Amino acid sequence: MPERIHAPKGVAEYVPPESTRFLHTRRTLIEPLVNAGYRCIELPVFEDTSLYVRGVGEGTDIVGKEMYTFEDRGGRSISLRPEGTAGVVRSMIEHGLARGGLPVKLWYAGPFFRAERPQRGRYRQFNQVGMEAIGYDDPALDAEVIALTDAGLRALGLTGFRLLVNSLGDVAERPAYRDQLTEFIKGLDLDQETLRRAELNPLRLLDDKRREVKALLADAPVLRDFISAEARAHHDQVCEYLTVLGVAFEEDPKLVRGLDYYTRTTFEFVHEGLGSQSAIGGGGRFDGLVADLGGDDMSGVGCAIGIERAMLACRAEALADPPAGRVDVFLVPVGGEAKRSLVRLLAALRRAGVRADLAYGDRSMKGGMRAADRSGAELAVIVGERELADGSAMVKHMSTGVQATAPVGDVGGFVRAVQGELARSKESVASSARTGESATADGNEMDQEAR
Ligand code: AMP
Repeated sequence: MPERIHAPKGVAEYVPPESTRFLHTRRTLIEPLVNAGYRCIELPVFEDTSLYVRGVGEGTDIVGKEMYTFEDRGGRSISLRPEGTAGVVRSMIEHGLARGGLPVKLWYAGPFFRAERPQRGRYRQFNQVGMEAIGYDDPALDAEVIALTDAGLRALGLTGFRLLVNSLGDVAERPAYRDQLTEFIKGLDLDQETLRRAELNPLRLLDDKRREVKALLADAPVLRDFISAEARAHHDQVCEYLTVLGVAFEEDPKLVRGLDYYTRTTFEFVHEGLGSQSAIGGGGRFDGLVADLGGDDMSGVGCAIGIERAMLACRAEALADPPAGRVDVFLVPVGGEAKRSLVRLLAALRRAGVRADLAYGDRSMKGGMRAADRSGAELAVIVGERELADGSAMVKHMSTGVQATAPVGDVGGFVRAVQGELARSKESVASSARTGESATADGNEMDQEAR
């Protein structure tokens, strides 16, 4: 037998039934963005490498160590996108989206790629839902982006996360802080590798997750003490708006993020149930990025949420699975003539918006009913020789065993009858939920007789 081929290491892939949870998570996170006037942007998954070198920063781990970079057939250096903001800004400039009025509000969803060591919650291909609001330096927009992320996570049912916020000030204030931090780090007992990393970018050390490093940095100078009065006022207003919006947050003066473009506001949503990869989402303001990439000098703010991490958080909080998204009606033909008739009726049901499927494969009645059972459908519609002769299909409520009929010769009548049975089954579920009783076959059969 030929050897099987496996998925590459560390990629997130979704097969049923997990794919239902994936779609549900993505849709739920996007909904608040659509409601807030953000518009969809669909971008390539690879870009010219220089976009990330210039946009995200050569010294960052993401660009320096984690990018999938290759030469294409034309000898150009291409990289799989490791994050969304640089591509959004590139495209916004290229298509002149700012001409349509400011702020430009965009959302995106799709796969991203980082050549990291795979572990739980950290993959080489992962998925994000993200948003950017570009064009104004308005602290209310920072708060909006944060609040929409918070709303998406809450709509999933999540409650066990915290929101950390910080201000990184403006680029002008960085060198003085960097010098002080470098001085401080020089006095610490750190290993060579860590010192080397600190030399490249001392701010990244503040992000180090190791407990012993965290302890050594407890008294490190904080950027907050270096930032300008304007940046401080901006930060205070962001916090005020978050309070107005009822979004709970904690100030974390050591929060820095692994991308060079952030200025002023940075934030991260963390979940304690996720182990070491605790960030579900994060973002911040990028005041120089649009100009750096060749656009007008305008600022922006954005956030990206990791779908895999959000799904892990749902699992950690033992949230119920979303509805399975299966069909409501399953048609079981027995014999060739019945199949021809049901194939036609199946198409009519689907046109009428009924979620329906059929037992393909010319199975026996028993095999067809087994397939109906597996499908999770509420109704099975069975047509054999007898039903064809009678001109009416048998409609079976799978959860109660109650049976009814629907005409097979009259397409409109058939669709109406099936829709009626579906409505009846929903009503009986609702009424048993109201009375706290389960719908028994007997009870429903009495209903049936009373009709
Ligand atoms: P970042 O731009 O690194 O802050 O990423 C934004 C969000 O994407 C993070 O908060 C994570 O939820 C998610 N994320 C980043 N890298 C990965 C990864 N390698 N695997 C899974 N999720 C990731």
